Amino acid sequence: MKTRALPVILTSAFLVAAPRAASAFCRTTTCDPNNAEEECRRNENDCVRDGVPIKWTELPIVYRFHAEGSSKLDSAGARSAVRSAFDAWANVECARGRTSLRFREGSDIAKDKPLGKKEAAEKFGIFFRDDEWPHQDAEESLALTTQIYRKTSGTIDYADIEINTADTDFRLTDDEGSTKVDLQAVVTHEVGHYIGLAHSNDPDSIMVARYCASADRCGQSTDVARGLSEDDRRAVCTVYPPAAGSSEAPPQGCAQASSASPAGAVVIGGLVFLGCTLVRRRFGRAT
Ligand SMILES: [Zn+2]
Repeated sequence: MKTRALPVILTSAFLVAAPRAASAFCRTTTCDPNNAEEECRRNENDCVRDGVPIKWTELPIVYRFHAEGSSKLDSAGARSAVRSAFDAWANVECARGRTSLRFREGSDIAKDKPLGKKEAAEKFGIFFRDDEWPHQDAEESLALTTQIYRKTSGTIDYADIEINTADTDFRLTDDEGSTKVDLQAVVTHEVGHYIGLAHSNDPDSIMVARYCASADRCGQSTDVARGLSEDDRRAVCTVYPPAAGSSEAPPQGCAQASSASPAGAVVIGGLVFLGCTLVRRRFGRAT
């Protein structure tokens, strides 16, 4: 039987590399643009490029619920939303496997964070502020992540998340017709700060400074609104790459947009407090 040789067609394809989207994510650095005494230069993405990116030196990173939770939200549902927010970042798949970022839920914290204090008695707390928002811009603020880091090395020693249940109606379900604010989306943003990311100018990013600023992010489904963008995933894969233990910083760092960071930094004995809020969308304002 004769076989007919199939002509081999060499297609000399020009492998034109698809234009790679430039990273837009920002990291929080030890240069605080809210501190009038510091001059922090920014890069083309409006990320602060001075200072050392702040970082955790040990994984897993711990978070702990304040035992009291919120009287305004179903306790199990609220905890589930918060856990899902942490999981979203830890489950990112990078080109060479899953990110090395891991979290561990510690035991509940009994004592509330004192109102107006920058630091709770115990680290890593998730606090619901049912009665009063003890920070600036109560009506605008949805949540605040506070970190304390070492000024020289950027090593994070303390973090907590406060959620403004006093002034905000949160929802736990994916009721897309609701005008309430989605708790999981807000906490996912705060977890981005928790791991050392700053606000991003990429409108698709969960790290935009304003909740649901973009219709692309919030005009579709709850899953999209809660989800990470490509650039958010790139941020995790860069800072917490799959290879264990190599969480070294990329050469550039960044800090949050100063307009959305009402809390100033206070240097105390070489430790710096940094607070970063997510604020409400301003309805009717084009973004
Ligand atoms: Zn924020």
